[in-house]
Amino acid sequence: MALTKMAGTHHPLHFRGRVHESRGDKALDRLMKSSVGRIASLSALGLTHRGLSSLFRTLLADPRRSLVNLVELKLSHDWMGVEASAVVLPHLPRLQTLDLLDVTVELQAADIMSFPSLRTANFTSTWYTDDSFRGLIRILQGSPTLERLVIDYTEGAWPSGWSLDGALSGVSVPLHMLDVIIMNSVEPSAVIRIGGALDMPKCSPVFGYVNDWVSGPELLKSQPNAHCHILQSFASCTCQLTIKFLKTHLNTLALILQPVVPEKDRKCRCPTFSVAFQEKPDTLDPFVRLGDAIKSVPNIQSRVMTIYLSLSDLSLISGSDAIEKEWKKLFSSLSSLKELHLLNVSLFDDSLRTLVQTFNADPMIGGELLSVNVEFQASDIATNSLLDEESLNRDGVREILWYALAANCEKLRFLELGPVPVGVCTDEEWCMQWHDILQLLLTRRQE
Ligand SMILES: [Zn+2]
Repeated sequence: MALTKMAGTHHPLHFRGRVHESRGDKALDRLMKSSVGRIASLSALGLTHRGLSSLFRTLLADPRRSLVNLVELKLSHDWMGVEASAVVLPHLPRLQTLDLLDVTVELQAADIMSFPSLRTANFTSTWYTDDSFRGLIRILQGSPTLERLVIDYTEGAWPSGWSLDGALSGVSVPLHMLDVIIMNSVEPSAVIRIGGALDMPKCSPVFGYVNDWVSGPELLKSQPNAHCHILQSFASCTCQLTIKFLKTHLNTLALILQPVVPEKDRKCRCPTFSVAFQEKPDTLDPFVRLGDAIKSVPNIQSRVMTIYLSLSDLSLISGSDAIEKEWKKLFSSLSSLKELHLLNVSLFDDSLRTLVQTFNADPMIGGELLSVNVEFQASDIATNSLLDEESLNRDGVREILWYALAANCEKLRFLELGPVPVGVCTDEEWCMQWHDILQLLLTRRQE
């Protein structure tokens, strides 16, 4: 064992380190045993089969002492080494944060509230076993004050719904304080079963998928028949929905379906569906799949009102007919769309042209559209000298494209392009087009 003591002798103790079972440090063992009641945080990486379990045996060897002041516990296991043995955790009355990576847990006494102060729990697994999942459920059953729960299975380690049936049969887990549950890379049928077992009346769940274009839409499609109250309430809700493709506050590129109203103001408990990308997508396939899933559930299709697309976060192969077809598939499945927001638009990117042409080519697309809002990339706005005659003709700003869009989407009332790049807004042709657009929209607004 090679733990490092991080604080002074008269204060709460913080331990962090790697744990072997065989190489004991006697002095450190003695210190930990005698100071067990002062340990406030413990972060340990198990390097051997029984590394973590022997650590807890050492800490809890004296029944007169307990981890009464432990607030934060982080345990991980080096899966590259050997299979981990289960860690037996005692009653931890002040524990607020629990973080487990590839660690299976058993409880010393399963019949008492093991973690009555727990607020945040993160369970990350690169593998799945029934025992590890049962341990997770038992922790949740002993944590009535839990506010935030993350269940994260690394891609390829999804528990399948069926294998969870044994662990979840007859189980109900009251989590009445839970605000957020994030199920990341969990297989749809497993999400349905886990979501059906947890009783969380105020929670807004997030179902996240890493680079997976199938699971999120599958979940959406399967939910009208699902035995999962979260998904049932989503299907029967009436709240307006939005699609977003952009970088989230964590700088992750994601395709998201969620209620329009921000979570803090939301009255319903509708979930957020999210697909995260490790790289910019080079096809619109994930968008098409999302559109297909939305189309298959009429009550969801009629609620998708707005879409936000960060165009420069797409890396589409330019000049391909396939792109226009895919845009067409996506937007024809969004028949109730009222607002289109295009973000990070680059003047020199074909995505814009193909997208706008999609609206112009088919009167059925964008038929309900009321407003279009375009924000150019900051680097393009000041672009002046770069705009030669050829690029002006090529870009999607000066062309008559925009007038065509306004004319073809018959319900369109508002078109905001701003700020228009310097080299464009002084151009005579552009000024004429913009004048005509304003006239058209103004006439409609007065009707
Ligand atoms: Zn809702």
